[in-house]
Amino acid sequence: MRDTLVLNASFEPLSTVTLNRAVVLVLQDKAVVEHSHPALRVRAAAVELPVPRVIRLCRYVRVPFRRQAPWSRRGVLVRDQHRCAYCGRRATTVDHVVPRSRGGADDWLNTVASCAEDNHRKADRTPEQAGMPLLHQPFVPTPADAMLLALRAGERSSLPEWLGRHGGHRAERHPLAPAA
Ligand SMILES: [Zn+2]
Repeated sequence: MRDTLVLNASFEPLSTVTLNRAVVLVLQDKAVVEHSHPALRVRAAAVELPVPRVIRLCRYVRVPFRRQAPWSRRGVLVRDQHRCAYCGRRATTVDHVVPRSRGGADDWLNTVASCAEDNHRKADRTPEQAGMPLLHQPFVPTPADAMLLALRAGERSSLPEWLGRHGGHRAERHPLAPAA
């Protein structure tokens, strides 16, 4: 499909993203267009621009995962943006959905970020046994996920904690929606 290649500020290729996501990054001044389609144009908000084929991030981001994304506790916390999978509050620990004592693996699909309280409360049980449903399903992060998480992490660290908590929803409106 018409995915856009994303380069780091250092010109190192990071991943591909959807056209919509590429346009958002350009409109938010987080990336510049390096190459665009010679003929196709896209209407985004109130402006029209060539369809970007390659964009480059304005600021260098340190991507938290390698391409194959080996599992790590830190990686799980970054993937889940330090939000507890059971209550949504700040998470500092990693919980095994199927406990290790019951054969649960150390992998992306069996681990979620958890606050210490919920991790302790769930103890040696599955979510069903504990009556603690997951707010979202764990997933194996793609290179695009890793890059977008790195961009968001950079935003949050430059904002006060109380503001950063709500900052994730800004400018997330559909880029190709007609201007209001
Ligand atoms: Zn919790």
